[in-house]
Amino acid sequence: MQITFLGTSSGAPSRQRNVSATAVSPERGRRWLLVDCGEATQHQLLRTALSPQQLAAVLITHIHGDHCYGLPGLLASCQLNGRTEPLTLIGPPAVWDYLQAVIRFTELQISYPLEFIAVSDELALTRAGFAISAHPLSHRVPSWGYRLQETGIQNRLDVARLRAEGIPAGPLYARLQRGEDCPLADGQVLKSRCYTEPSRRPRILVIGGDNDRPELLTAACHGADLLIHEATYTEDVLAQVGPEPQHSCAAQVARFAQTQGLNNLILTHFSPRYRAQARKPRERSMAELEAEARQHYGGQLYLAQDFDCYQLTPQGELVRQQR
Ligand SMILES: [Zn+2]
Repeated sequence: MQITFLGTSSGAPSRQRNVSATAVSPERGRRWLLVDCGEATQHQLLRTALSPQQLAAVLITHIHGDHCYGLPGLLASCQLNGRTEPLTLIGPPAVWDYLQAVIRFTELQISYPLEFIAVSDELALTRAGFAISAHPLSHRVPSWGYRLQETGIQNRLDVARLRAEGIPAGPLYARLQRGEDCPLADGQVLKSRCYTEPSRRPRILVIGGDNDRPELLTAACHGADLLIHEATYTEDVLAQVGPEPQHSCAAQVARFAQTQGLNNLILTHFSPRYRAQARKPRERSMAELEAEARQHYGGQLYLAQDFDCYQLTPQGELVRQQR
C-alpha cells in the first residue's frame, strides 16, 4: 500500500508545506482514501497521480480549519468533473454542519451520492480495501485517530487436508479458496474456513489527528505496522507554548511508539517555526525535531514532507519512494 503526504504543516501553510492531508492507496484497484483535507488539498492532488474521481472516502480527524477547509473545493471540483460515484465522508458532526453551510450559502449543487458517517468508537466499515475504525484522542475539540486494516488478503488452501479427506481437485478448490462454502452431492457442506487460512497477516496503519496524549492510541496500535502522528513541537518549545493548544512534541510520540514496539513511525504536522535549515541563530530546524524523536525511538523513523510517498510492503516494511 502507498501513503502520500499532501500537507505536513500545522495551523498555516508555509512555502514548503501545505496544511494536513494524507492519501492512502491499496495496491489493488484505483480507489483510495484521504485522511484530512486542509485548504488547497485539491491543488496538491494536481501534482500527484491520485485522481479525485477515484477517491472512495474522506476521513476527517477534527473540525479545525487546517484539517478540513479543503473539503468544499475538492467536492465541488468532483461535481464539475462529472463525478457520479458515491463518496463517503467520515468525521465529527461539526464537519457535516460546516460543509452543509458552505453548500447552502454558495449554492453548490452536488448530485453524486455524498454519504456522511459521524465518527464514533463504534465505526466499522470498509472502503477502498480497508476496514476502518476510529479512536478518540485528546485535543481542544473532539479529535480522532483512524485505524486502517487491509482487507481482501488471498486465502491459502489446505490442499493436503482436502486430499486426505478424499475430496478431488477441481473447481471446488478455487471456490473454497475464494471463501465460498461448497455443498457436496451427499448433502455435506464443506466450510471454506475449515480448509483455508489467510496467506499472510493484514497490514495495519494508524493515522492520528491532533492529540496531546499519544497513549490514547494504545489499542489502535495493537498489531499495527505503522503509526502516523503529529509532532507539532520539540519538547522545549512545547514547554514554552504551554499545554493549551493540546499538541504533542516529537519526544512524546517517539516514546509512545517505542513502548508499543512499533516498527515504523512517520511524524507530521510540524509547526512552521521549524525550518528545513536554520539560517539565523535563534531559528529552529527540522533537524532538532528529528534528533529529539531518534533519541527516544529505535525503529524506522521518517519526518514527512509534502509529496513524500511511502510504500508499506506486504511484509510490513516501510520504504520511502524516490521522488
Ligand atoms: Zn487542531
